[in-house]
Amino acid sequence: MITPEDLPVVPIFASVPPEDLARLAQTSGDARLGVGDYAAHEGDERSLFVILAGRIEVTKVIDGIERVIGKRVPGQIFGEVPIIFGTPYQGSYRATEPSRVMHISARQFHALAAAHPAVLTQVAAIAAERIGGLKGIATAPPRARAVMLAHPGDDTARQLRRFLDRNQISHDWVAPEAPDRATRWTGPPLADDELPALVCDDGSLLTRARSCDVAEHLGLQTRPRGGTYDAVIVGGGPAGLAAAVYGASEGLRTLVIEREAPGGQAETSSRIENYLGFPTGVSGNELARRALLQANRLGAEVMVTRTVAGIAPATKVITLDGGDSVLARSIILATGVSWRRLSSPGFDRLLGKGVFYGASRSEAGTTQGQDIHLIGAGNSAGQAAMFFANHARTVTLVVRGDALEKSMSHYLIEQVRGKPNIQVALHSELHALHGDKQLEAIDWVDRASGTIRRVASGGVFVFIGADAETGWMPEAIQRDERGYVCTGESAARSGRWQMDRDPYLLETTVPGIFACGDVRSSLVKRVAAAVGEGSMAIAFVQQYLARADSAPFG
Ligand SMILES: Cc1cc2nc3c(=O)[nH]c(=O)nc-3n(C[C@H](O)[C@H](O)[C@H](O)COP(=O)(O)OP(=O)(O)OC[C@H]3O[C@@H](n4cnc5c(N)ncnc54)[C@H](O)[C@@H]3O)c2cc1C
Repeated sequence: MITPEDLPVVPIFASVPPEDLARLAQTSGDARLGVGDYAAHEGDERSLFVILAGRIEVTKVIDGIERVIGKRVPGQIFGEVPIIFGTPYQGSYRATEPSRVMHISARQFHALAAAHPAVLTQVAAIAAERIGGLKGIATAPPRARAVMLAHPGDDTARQLRRFLDRNQISHDWVAPEAPDRATRWTGPPLADDELPALVCDDGSLLTRARSCDVAEHLGLQTRPRGGTYDAVIVGGGPAGLAAAVYGASEGLRTLVIEREAPGGQAETSSRIENYLGFPTGVSGNELARRALLQANRLGAEVMVTRTVAGIAPATKVITLDGGDSVLARSIILATGVSWRRLSSPGFDRLLGKGVFYGASRSEAGTTQGQDIHLIGAGNSAGQAAMFFANHARTVTLVVRGDALEKSMSHYLIEQVRGKPNIQVALHSELHALHGDKQLEAIDWVDRASGTIRRVASGGVFVFIGADAETGWMPEAIQRDERGYVCTGESAARSGRWQMDRDPYLLETTVPGIFACGDVRSSLVKRVAAAVGEGSMAIAFVQQYLARADSAPFG
């Protein structure tokens, strides 16, 4: 407990009489922090801290990277801006040596300030000074972490840009023929066959750049740091990230392996309106960004650009593309689903050249002022229509059925109908795509009359549903007739379950291997369900590990 004798080092309390100081000391929190422990996190509710011993550094995530923006030593305070202006914390406060801090709640502070206005004056003055410093950070022009030299129509470059966006890495894209190329591209002149090329912020030049090389040079994790993990999660969508957050927060050694970038399908959603706690909706991108920060902060490792190629059910050795392996005590499959393929003539040839599966925010710029076409009638198509309608001249939803009501939520249909530049072509189907280097036009067929129409198109985005890609999983993991992973009761009924106990709700036919989210055989395919199942999976992992620890055969 804090005593008045601990407080003489604190200048803001100089005017507080001993009896009030004794009361404050008695009622305040006394936190002892080890190296790396946080006293407060960015976004936390307001309160005030006083440093009694040790050293605290102030960190802030700017442009996806954590930066140290200040330090505090004994006698100094932090939380002055939140407490004075009623805002959440704008930075995080972490001990760099064993430290002791006094925690004063907002209610305590206001009672103290009412009795001793000099305290308020001093804290307010420190807050005003601090705001000046934060203003400097906010107005400093963001420096791109990578500069890419690539032709505008280059599909590899487009995928790289999407990869950088999804990993929240700021970048600048320079076309070889851009008039200001000399000032923006700091690398040497390059031949066309060396593009796309990148100059990264560590000074390295990557030619014919691939996302795995880019990830390594920009400090993203691409290799496991440890040998054995308590929980290895395959897939970094909402289910996988939720499992990572819960796993790490429960103290499990947790690794996520993601073949692309964190976020999964949800990352391509321009606005998720039905996720609890976001009354005005949240973009999938923002949700993924927050989830990744949370998982990292709690100590989960999130590896990107690595695909899981195989799992040995008996040993739980996970094989990655390229041959590395990881040993897991338990495995959570959270691999979601992948877009269903379209077979219209011209489709494969123009894929990435104006034709895309799904949509992401980074595509918005390329649709500016264009007439574009979305294939599909589900919520994902509706959301994308709403998003692109703010950029494209017209958006046409090409729909096979005779009404949107059968597949799209009511709220979204209302929104779509309210946008004058969105058209809906019912009982229509994409027939063929035309263009040489880039999509130029499409043919669509009216299923009622059989008439084929050709129209100019600045972009085709396909949302015709998705399937689980589970062919790589071992036979021992039972899947249903559509390839989704059986768990719980259906795993027990499969005839493959060998244990004398029942499988846990999310356990597959292999003990200790769990499945959650869209890849699991179930009717619900939703962000909230994926997040809920991801967190539940960790509870089952803990039970499984506890059994395994007490009985050698789990
Ligand atoms: C455009 C769009 C809009 C949507 N809008 C909404 C909405 O408004 N509300 C809502 O509730 N739901 C919405 N959904 C559905 C929602 O996004 C999904 O239900 C949710 O993302 C499922 O999460 P998941 O983690 O199970 O799978 P996914 O999000 O599919 O993530 C799986 C991850 O696993 C990775 N992966 C796959 N195989 C491997 C492998 N072998 N090795 C390593 N990694 C692998 C993938 O790259 C992917 O990142 C939308 C979906 C889309 C596409």
